[in-house]
Amino acid sequence: MIEFYTLGTSSAVPTDSRDLSSTFLNFQGNKMLFDCGEGTQKSLMVNKLGLMNIDKVFITHWHADHFSGLLGLVQTLGMEGRDRPLFIYGPKRTEEFTKNLLELGYYNRNYDIYAENLEPGDVVEDQEYKVRAIKTDHRVPSLGYVFEEKPSKKVSRKKMEEHGLEPCEEIGRLKDGESVEIDGTVYTPDQLVSKVPGRKIVYTGDTEYSEEVIRASKNADLLVHDSTFTEELRKDGRYGHSSALQAAKVAKHADVEKLVLTHFSRRFTNNAEKLVDEAKEVFENVEAAEDGKKFEIKPHRPE
Ligand SMILES: [Zn+2]
Ligand SMILES: [Zn+2]
Repeated sequence: MIEFYTLGTSSAVPTDSRDLSSTFLNFQGNKMLFDCGEGTQKSLMVNKLGLMNIDKVFITHWHADHFSGLLGLVQTLGMEGRDRPLFIYGPKRTEEFTKNLLELGYYNRNYDIYAENLEPGDVVEDQEYKVRAIKTDHRVPSLGYVFEEKPSKKVSRKKMEEHGLEPCEEIGRLKDGESVEIDGTVYTPDQLVSKVPGRKIVYTGDTEYSEEVIRASKNADLLVHDSTFTEELRKDGRYGHSSALQAAKVAKHADVEKLVLTHFSRRFTNNAEKLVDEAKEVFENVEAAEDGKKFEIKPHRPE
């Protein structure tokens, strides 16, 4: 199971019910944050998400509502005796801003922090997943992120049934590339093993409507998109962000499974349903993010 939490869902300023931008992803114990606005460490505690095990923080851009929780988080990790390193990624100037942040005040810190500037297309890779930076369209250097589970191989239940096979010990060895003999018949991996596409989650951060986001979001399981205001307000000359309708158009063109709207202007803090209704005009499977709301993505089945 992949668990994705929206922890902070307000834009620019916190409200009584919404903190600033922050999301948390747990993939088989690999824990990471996408944005870390003010209030993030408190939300991690309230939702019992274990902040000590977070190894990577991806910042979409250096507007304060997206990074202002870093200082407190870094401090708490030090006070709690962390010794493993923390990695902070973001658009250009991330190394510089992180250095500045760490030189602010007196810290007691016994762990290393590595910051890295990413460009669109750069990939942070681990054994079972990768996170790709994508270009977004905001007023300052900004990135969105695509989390992708690497594809795997699994024995297909459907194919087993076609061959009249029951689950047994030998079958497990097929996905390691071995042929196996069951009741006198030899089966090769091609007969029973299928490729399983990895799960994909896209987090845009702040962005206007973007063709690049559409391309990067193709067939995503979850698209978490800037939806700061309504189309009416956007046409009034607001820029740098997306309307709910635009987020829905991205979801539709990219053919994603589910759309989550977030980063609400405070005028929608208790009225996000208005944005959901607007999005539903073009894309049905849409929800408004709430602070502490969890989205689960189940493993894909073999093709
Ligand atoms: Zn913002
Ligand atoms: Zn911004």
